[in-house]
Amino acid sequence: MRPAAFVFLLASACLAATGAAEPGVIRIGAVDYVSVDDGADRLGLRVVPLVAQSAMILKDGPRPVARLADHSREIDLKGLRVFLGDPVIARGGTFYVSRIDYQSHLVPRLRPVLCGPPPRQPRVIAIDPGHGGTDHGAENRALGTMEKTCTLDVSLRLKRLLEGAGYAVVLTRDSDFDLPKAVRSEIANRANADLFVSVHFNSLYPNTKTTGAEVLSFPARSQRSADSWSPGGNDNAETKDAPVNAFDAWNTVLAGALHRRILDALHDGDRGEKLEHLGVLRGLKCPGVLVEPAFISSDAEGAKLGTPEFRNAIAAAVFAGIQDYAEVIKALHPAPVPAPDAATAPRSQPSRPAVP
Ligand SMILES: [Zn+2]
Repeated sequence: MRPAAFVFLLASACLAATGAAEPGVIRIGAVDYVSVDDGADRLGLRVVPLVAQSAMILKDGPRPVARLADHSREIDLKGLRVFLGDPVIARGGTFYVSRIDYQSHLVPRLRPVLCGPPPRQPRVIAIDPGHGGTDHGAENRALGTMEKTCTLDVSLRLKRLLEGAGYAVVLTRDSDFDLPKAVRSEIANRANADLFVSVHFNSLYPNTKTTGAEVLSFPARSQRSADSWSPGGNDNAETKDAPVNAFDAWNTVLAGALHRRILDALHDGDRGEKLEHLGVLRGLKCPGVLVEPAFISSDAEGAKLGTPEFRNAIAAAVFAGIQDYAEVIKALHPAPVPAPDAATAPRSQPSRPAVP
């Protein structure tokens, strides 16, 4: 596509994102909702109801791209488990999704061109090996392994892959020492990082059977953490934007890219993308997520984590996810207009007289 045509398309899309593409809003309880029918129309998608199951499928041409169910925060988004910030609601045969979920999950993942100006193309990547020093993180007591050691090992492998592909990499820690959560995002900000990935491993100890991958991003303002929906949990939504909320849509794009690659590489189960008010993400001035590719507390995954092959596979999956994210962002940036070449510049142009 010619640069001018792309700029026009992007400008139209940005205008659409700020108004015309926005479906009408209705209030359900304390939350603003939009009709999925209306949203689908604006995204060029088709709604297929599954009446018997109180669910619906969104199709992009012949391809199913999302499945939503009444009273559920969990949706299937292009084959990935994603937990929205608010439950989907069905009323009178029409499905509604919260306006924030529409803007920060559906639009970025299904039509990223409608999300307004994209963030910078990633060149500087901040990698954050979780825990460190006196903070061991989770442990596998049977195997004697600690989360802080695994996160650093995988992060160092990831750094080598990224540098090999020409990225600049900043590690929040490169050895075993304590590092407060807020300092980790400060290090990324000071390095002018274009994206941030915090590497962790999950634990449900004393459960040693659960395996699988989880990806966490920071909730949009007024949305709750996933864990606050558990029985007895309190609404912990915040009323002010955190710095990282400037990237709500792009955090989701990054989460999806990493999620897919980790699942494809490890095949140990999909624990889903979730929202959590994580101190390590809060202060970021670039898109960022936290990945939990496997359970250190699991007998099976804990043992695999002890092998360099598995840690390599994790690093390679995160690397591939970062590259996928970079491709999405690159496609949203207009190609630079080439500078006029001196050799091809018109010769009839009079040269400027020298100033005496
Ligand atoms: Zn951790």
